[in-house]
Amino acid sequence: NRQVRLARRPRGAPVPDDFRIVDGPVPVPNDGELLLRNLYLSLDPYMRGRMNDSHGSYASPYALPFALDAPPGGGTVARVMRSRLDSFAEGDLVVTPDAGWQTFAISDGTGLRRLPNDMAQPSQALGVLGMTGFTAWWGLTAIGRPQAGETLVVSAAAGAVGSVVGQIGRLLGCRVIGIAGGTDKCRQVVEELGFDACLDYRVPDLAGRLREAAPDGIDIYFENVGGAVREAVWPLLNNDARVPVCGLVSGYNGVTEEAGGIHALLMSLIVKRIRLQGFMNADHLDSFPDFERQMRGWLDAGQLRALETIVDGLDQAATAFVGLFEGHNTGKLVVRLSE
Ligand code: NDP
Repeated sequence: NRQVRLARRPRGAPVPDDFRIVDGPVPVPNDGELLLRNLYLSLDPYMRGRMNDSHGSYASPYALPFALDAPPGGGTVARVMRSRLDSFAEGDLVVTPDAGWQTFAISDGTGLRRLPNDMAQPSQALGVLGMTGFTAWWGLTAIGRPQAGETLVVSAAAGAVGSVVGQIGRLLGCRVIGIAGGTDKCRQVVEELGFDACLDYRVPDLAGRLREAAPDGIDIYFENVGGAVREAVWPLLNNDARVPVCGLVSGYNGVTEEAGGIHALLMSLIVKRIRLQGFMNADHLDSFPDFERQMRGWLDAGQLRALETIVDGLDQAATAFVGLFEGHNTGKLVVRLSE
């Protein structure tokens, strides 16, 4: 059993030396347990927070620290290799919440979701048809409440969540402006995903370019990034704007770019009647079947494209994870461990 273990807690941006590879025996399931073989591992920005040794001011499972010298948890698509649990059979394909950065895992079945055994692209169960797709769908529809003709801005637009947010926004009739790092990503977002525009935040004067791209102001800002990007967006929010606060990835390495005062930000909520609401996908799983139905419909009809970056081999997990904070991925970042 090959594992990528957390060797030490990253300081600032993660580096490959924060991890090490360890080979050991394949674990043996007890009564009431399954042996799983991980096929695909999801790598997600929230994992960075869990690599710290405390949850700071917000204690929640989202931030519960990963143990040192153990493989970090993480969602996977896995095959049941041995079953000593009545509810699963050998050969079943499942999504796990936390089987993590390793080839094999033991599970007591908690939190497993069954997939069709012959699913054509199982990795999509971690992305567009899984947690990141669901996050995009729920945050945009339940908090963003888009109306046709409105202007939607989404940050980290070429990423797993952002790429789906923007496409759903288009399907619901919004004018969609993405913000992403680099001209290639921006071109892809416009040409392949059909966004109306995409701005590279690394080029100077994001605020000015955004003002030109959104002459009628911004009705919905889907927040994935925070920091300097949010500061450029904020003054352009219209009255009654909605801001689903999904993530603040620019601050996950402990370096925040927040400059604008919190007082001014909160004051603008009042003056413009802005609705700012944070959310956690895990609280809304009741809606998962509705999401799945609608998302499958869009995918099958060719109305929505699933962007993925698939990296081969568990040995590449650490480098790929580091790349999440340098923008190396487009769409959902997944590690393929085995077919
Ligand atoms: P992505 O696929 O979007 O990958 C992260 C991307 O963030 C990178 O590719 C990079 O793109 C961008 N990025 C990284 N660092 C910075 C920075 N300093 N400034 C600006 N952009 C940066 O990840 P996800 O789609 O999985 O996650 C997007 C956000 O959604 C995250 O904040 C995450 O925590 C949040 N999230 C929240 C959930 C919830 O339930 N609330 C659930 C799932 C995700 P670029 O090249 O454009 O810089």
